[in-house]
Amino acid sequence: MSVPAKRDIFDYYEDQDQLDSQILHAVLSERDTFAPDQFTHADVVRALNEESLSPQGFKALLSPEAASFLEEIASAARRVKSAHFGNSISLFTPLYVANYCEDECTYCGFNRFNKIKRARLTKQQVESECEEIAKTGLEEVLILTGESRAFSDYKYIGEACKIAKKHFRVVGVEVQPMNVDEYRHLHSCGADFVTVFQETYDISVYEIVHPGGRKRIFPYRFDTAERALLGGFRGVAFGALLGLADFRKDALAVGMHASLMQKKFPHAEISISCPRIRPILGDDNLPSAVGVPLTPVTERELLQIICAYRLFLPFANITVSTRESQSFRNEVFKIAATKVSAGVNVGVGGHSEDAVGDEQFEIDDTRSVDEICRMLKSANLQPVMSEYV
Ligand code: SF4
Repeated sequence: MSVPAKRDIFDYYEDQDQLDSQILHAVLSERDTFAPDQFTHADVVRALNEESLSPQGFKALLSPEAASFLEEIASAARRVKSAHFGNSISLFTPLYVANYCEDECTYCGFNRFNKIKRARLTKQQVESECEEIAKTGLEEVLILTGESRAFSDYKYIGEACKIAKKHFRVVGVEVQPMNVDEYRHLHSCGADFVTVFQETYDISVYEIVHPGGRKRIFPYRFDTAERALLGGFRGVAFGALLGLADFRKDALAVGMHASLMQKKFPHAEISISCPRIRPILGDDNLPSAVGVPLTPVTERELLQIICAYRLFLPFANITVSTRESQSFRNEVFKIAATKVSAGVNVGVGGHSEDAVGDEQFEIDDTRSVDEICRMLKSANLQPVMSEYV
């Protein structure tokens, strides 16, 4: 019996918007030609002396050679963060409203083959979750789903946004990539920000870890931020799942992608997330099990990447995942990060009653909003619930 050939990752589905954007080619070209091992001590010193970090300087600070300069890089990052954000750190929490997914990402607990408890919140349940979260004082929420057009299409997500907007000043969505008109609808329902991670910008790895589903279409995912901004969104967040492929090259690609988008859409608010790969529920195996060698990222390497992001993108918000330890998060908010999730529950529901659906991944930092606020204040940082007037 012959096995059907897998869809080419550049072959759009008929109903997917296609943008004529040159940014994809520019980012992939920068990533392909980046040779982290070729940077020298002198290159790193030169980068640290640049007033405004150039792409070449960004590459130098991501290189292995820069590891021995981590203290200097962190000091520079702290100065830049302080100049642009003062001592404020904004807070938000994720709200998972559904975990059905039609994709097959090998590294994710929501993938359609994984036997987990699936659920989708009713409007009443979304309302109860929002009421409970709002009691903590938070004014920003991030609505998440798996990527399922059957169970959580743009209309369902729009209804969730309308409910959330009654309780929060700022509503973000981290859901399946959509077309411009669908983003326009979500924006009209109150959504402000879109988060979509490319996961990896290494095309050969992307193809292996996305064996099926609509997410397999690499350029459609890549252009998501642009479609969201064309649909009226205020801001977009970028990220790679560090460890899935060469993390230095993926970090470069994230930075270049964000930077080129900022040039094209100067009004857009840009954010960067820095997740590292974690084990998933229902499967202790990481993607190495499907033939992709992981490139694990140590905490020091992650800190180096985050500081390089801070210096290359001085105005961008940087978020550090609750997948990271409390001690690491405590430190990185003093140095480079500006946005923190608190009171996190990654199951479906779970804020107002027990979660009705399983979680996407394990978290390490389970602190409540009050605990995070106390930690920030003890470090002379100012928790900010919303900067949006
Ligand atoms: S990463 Fe997203 S698209 Fe992929 S399986 Fe998980 S929820 Fe679905």
